[in-house]
Amino acid sequence: STPELQQLKTTLEAQGVKYAIASFVDIHGMCKAKMVPLTHFDSMMQGSELFTGAALDGVPQAVNDDEVATMPDPASATILPWNSEMAWFASDLYLQGKPFEACCRSILKSVLQQSAGLGFQFNLGIETEFFILKDDAGGAAPVSDRDRLAKPCYDLQGLLDNYAWVDEIVQAMNHLGWDVYSFDHEDGNGQFETDFAYADALTMSDRLTFFRLMVKEIARKHGYFATFMPKPFANRTGSGAHYNMSLADLKTGENLFIDRQDSRHCGLSKLGYQFIAGVLRHAPAICAVIAPTVNSYKRLIARGSMSGFTWAPVYICYGNNNRTNMLRIPLGGGRVECRAADISSNPYLGAAMILAAGLEGIRENLDPGEPHTENMYNCTSAKLTEMGIKTLPRTLGEAIEAFATDPLSETVMGSLMYKTYVDFKTQEWFEYHNHVSDWETQRYLKFF
Ligand code: GLU
Ligand code: MG
Ligand code: MG
Repeated sequence: STPELQQLKTTLEAQGVKYAIASFVDIHGMCKAKMVPLTHFDSMMQGSELFTGAALDGVPQAVNDDEVATMPDPASATILPWNSEMAWFASDLYLQGKPFEACCRSILKSVLQQSAGLGFQFNLGIETEFFILKDDAGGAAPVSDRDRLAKPCYDLQGLLDNYAWVDEIVQAMNHLGWDVYSFDHEDGNGQFETDFAYADALTMSDRLTFFRLMVKEIARKHGYFATFMPKPFANRTGSGAHYNMSLADLKTGENLFIDRQDSRHCGLSKLGYQFIAGVLRHAPAICAVIAPTVNSYKRLIARGSMSGFTWAPVYICYGNNNRTNMLRIPLGGGRVECRAADISSNPYLGAAMILAAGLEGIRENLDPGEPHTENMYNCTSAKLTEMGIKTLPRTLGEAIEAFATDPLSETVMGSLMYKTYVDFKTQEWFEYHNHVSDWETQRYLKFF
């Protein structure tokens, strides 16, 4: 054990930590872990904890394979803000002493390495939208009785009604050094958003992974439950996880996406536009990863929320500060916001796919054309055809087909994870598609 690890153990002990958690994620980005008494901390940090992948979703192993081992990242040490007896560690998976090729965190790391090879650090800020609900006889109810509000967005009363738990979450985030800069009531009743400082994409992916766990735990403490389902209610907005992206100079940290002289008036540099063009080129395949569920596609529609619009993207296009585009350059420039991502997505795989696509745009010096400043929701299909704009996948089935046929997918994920992802998500799609729903029987059973 190194002096640094000794120091870390001493620090954890001094803060009353009893257990270290060797955690990694499955295909969904959910934490899977073993809890290790601090007396065994040294061996845990050297990969003592073993897991049988065949027991998990999308950790491709046969039942008779050797277990995978977690190699915890000391930099990710996180004492649970709601219970300081435990410290969580994000880990890479190893198999027989070597990095496991289908480890989500390692897949991101390898694209980050390519980016570093070009001199870039990939910075990522993820906006977290989620619903906090309570169980009730009729299913799930919003936490505050503001249901009559047609436009609950930014509603201060709705936020104050929920101050107890929301403050606890924000305090916890700040305690972890995440630097929350604002939080609000979102556009759907019972929907909230907490926004915090961007970081390098690996740190941000670890944070989002931990965030979902933390919000669930804190909500439960208050008698509620949190959901990161992308579209829990047909008539409310869905929960996005907008990726705010930029590349910085690896050495100086300077943001390479800023250009105040930008002739397209978005404050974005040529590098930023190339990145956008790469992402647009691979948007359908990326979508299969950043909008990974059957339900995700019920969010990617223009209208139908109580406030009218959903603010979710429908078309593969980019624009200025306007929210009807898939990719938006928020006011001030210097970053690109991908609005297609939802909060159920696995951030490691999502960031890996989108960064790889952006780097391709840079390598091939692609240009995305002029930004769309008009309301894309109102575009007629004739106009879309004229402009050469395609629609985002409309179902998980379409998305996974695009993922399967785009060569980028296998390049990013490696053949094992590529195949696993296609198989797993195709199966998910067919299970849904083959199900005869209440809607169908109500509509057709007696009609025909
Ligand atoms: N909830 C919207 C979505 O599904 C986004 C609203 C916003 O712009 O913050 O992406
Ligand atoms: Mg929002
Ligand atoms: Mg946003």
